[in-house]
Amino acid sequence: MTTTVGVLSIQGAVAEHLDSMRRLFTKPAYKGQAVLLRTPEQVEDLDGVILPGGESTTISRILERSGIGPQLRTRIANDDIAIMGTCAGCVLLAKTLADPTKVTLLEAMDMEVRRNAFGRQKESFERPLQIKGLRKPFPGVFIRAPLITRTWGDCEVLAEIDEGVVMARQGKFLGVAFHPELTDDLRIHQLFYKML
Ligand code: GLN
Repeated sequence: MTTTVGVLSIQGAVAEHLDSMRRLFTKPAYKGQAVLLRTPEQVEDLDGVILPGGESTTISRILERSGIGPQLRTRIANDDIAIMGTCAGCVLLAKTLADPTKVTLLEAMDMEVRRNAFGRQKESFERPLQIKGLRKPFPGVFIRAPLITRTWGDCEVLAEIDEGVVMARQGKFLGVAFHPELTDDLRIHQLFYKML
């Protein structure tokens, strides 16, 4: 069976992630396909899912209402699907929130996340990031980004800036506070591919 990655198509940077994965799959060493994830029935056939940035409150509401959220939770509990969440998607992967917003989380990773952690002056910015496992710095694009405020258990910190943790991994789950899909750099998508 072809390795298949579904990009959750509710809202946000969906096309950009689809494009990054499809570019990766044109390279000889990477075999598979990227599709839009739109229905709960699709979930059981996927090897991996990307939860794009957008607005976590909106995305979580539609995730639950569509039935995709409950399906993903079953796969998460069985630990047989890889998931990368970027920005709002990173929020959804957390077990708890450091801010009082009501978002129904997927609770996949042992981490606490603060939404919109950089305040108004720094709503968006770019910063070169030192990421564990990558030799050269990665261009981190932050847009109303969250911060990972606490990790515990098996959650491993992969990147940190002065303000706090911006990337973490736990088994098959990857939380990324910034937007790798908005750069030409495919190294984080490559890392995710290796987790499939
Ligand atoms: N601030 C948004 C949220 O918490 C995330 C922003 C983004 O994904 N670019 O939902």
